[in-house]
Amino acid sequence: MGEGGRGVEAARNAPAPSLRDWLDHLAARGLLAVARPGVALRFGLAAIAKRLDGIKATLFPSPDGHAMPVVSGLVSNRAWIADAMGVTEREMLRRFLHAAQNPLPWREVAAAPVQERIEREVDLGALLPLPTHNEHDSGPYITAGLLIARNPASGVQNVAIHRLQLGGKRRLGALLLPRHTNLFFEAAEAAGQALPVAIVIGVDPLTLLASQAIVPVDHDELEIAGALHGRPLEVVKCVTSEVRVPAAAEIVLEGRLLPDLREPEGPFGEFPQYYGERADRHVIEIDAVTMRADALFHTIVGGGLEHLLLGAIPREASLLAHLQRSFPGVRDVHLSRGGTCRYHLHVQLRKRNEGEAKNVILGAFAGHYDIKQVIVVDEDVDIHDPTEVEWAVATRSQADRDLVIIADAQGSKLDPSARGGVGAKLGIDATIPLDAPKMRFTRIRVPGEAEVALDRVIDPAPGGDWRKALGR
Ligand code: MN
Repeated sequence: MGEGGRGVEAARNAPAPSLRDWLDHLAARGLLAVARPGVALRFGLAAIAKRLDGIKATLFPSPDGHAMPVVSGLVSNRAWIADAMGVTEREMLRRFLHAAQNPLPWREVAAAPVQERIEREVDLGALLPLPTHNEHDSGPYITAGLLIARNPASGVQNVAIHRLQLGGKRRLGALLLPRHTNLFFEAAEAAGQALPVAIVIGVDPLTLLASQAIVPVDHDELEIAGALHGRPLEVVKCVTSEVRVPAAAEIVLEGRLLPDLREPEGPFGEFPQYYGERADRHVIEIDAVTMRADALFHTIVGGGLEHLLLGAIPREASLLAHLQRSFPGVRDVHLSRGGTCRYHLHVQLRKRNEGEAKNVILGAFAGHYDIKQVIVVDEDVDIHDPTEVEWAVATRSQADRDLVIIADAQGSKLDPSARGGVGAKLGIDATIPLDAPKMRFTRIRVPGEAEVALDRVIDPAPGGDWRKALGR
């Protein structure tokens, strides 16, 4: 059950510099499924992508007869993300943190593939193959658009993925949570101005991942992408604004977040596997679309593994750093899939002092308000294996002694069981007491089990015929 079998063996290839290179990389490993042409954009595309979620990425030629192909599920597996980073799964969080803490400034180029074609007569529904994913989604969405905006005060850029609802020929509805894009927009709106934005679709996996880094304002996520690549990311200036966008991208929508205007957006299927509700939200007007001559459109199926993992890995990296500042014995953290890759955290701890696990639980709640449940286990427990974690809870914790419950704390607004984002926190200390008799918690083990080479000890010849094997 150890982690050794799951990771790629060692750092090797230079990471894929574009989405196309990543498709080549996946295809060469048998990890890209190509659908028959003409799959329906409404539900049909997502249904296939979801069936192959985490197993293969999917490419859809001419969906609904549209000239532009669609790809999905590019990073729907932890092993692929580690592979894109050129490290093992065990090294992934540390590699991501290192990049977040050592950003590499981008390099501007004058001409770029993403500006091979420039459209100023914009009709988004005609230009782009926009899919509808979940049953009650309000309609077609752009789900894999990296929204880039400049801080009006400092000029430093921010990158974030916002769900974008098709609202008209050149109009998108956007969900802006109270984070950096919204901060910039509030400053622009207070001055009565629109905020220029670029929406970048179709980037390499590392730029996609970097967009989700949890870093303070005025930390340009494109510089983290550069650090992950090990060389400066090439960017180009937008044709209608000062925003800089990745030169190797497939498509860029250039536009403005409009002041003093909100329009209905949603419902939309979100990461908790429920719908985000319909409400009045921000509006973007698109002024121009630039793209490669033979552009590919990337979509992320809401609530699928690509959606979940893009959120989980940067969060895990920042939670690990946060916990290790106070608790050097924390070895690893994992946001479990059952916990929507946001709410439930598993922590692996080398416990040195009795009671330490409960301090770690309290520290984790302070690390991110989304964290709702924390289970702390010892070093011998694989926190990526839910069966192992449940086993630790079953055999190393007692409810009257090892639970921490905190009422009425801030939680996720998308948790339908919370009251407007207010809810309870639960922690479980599933670590062995330091003074326990050694034999009581010694795990059973068959010597040599892990080393058995089955192809050498099992005779393939009789094909399961036990009588023949016994000479009868
Ligand atoms: Mn940011």
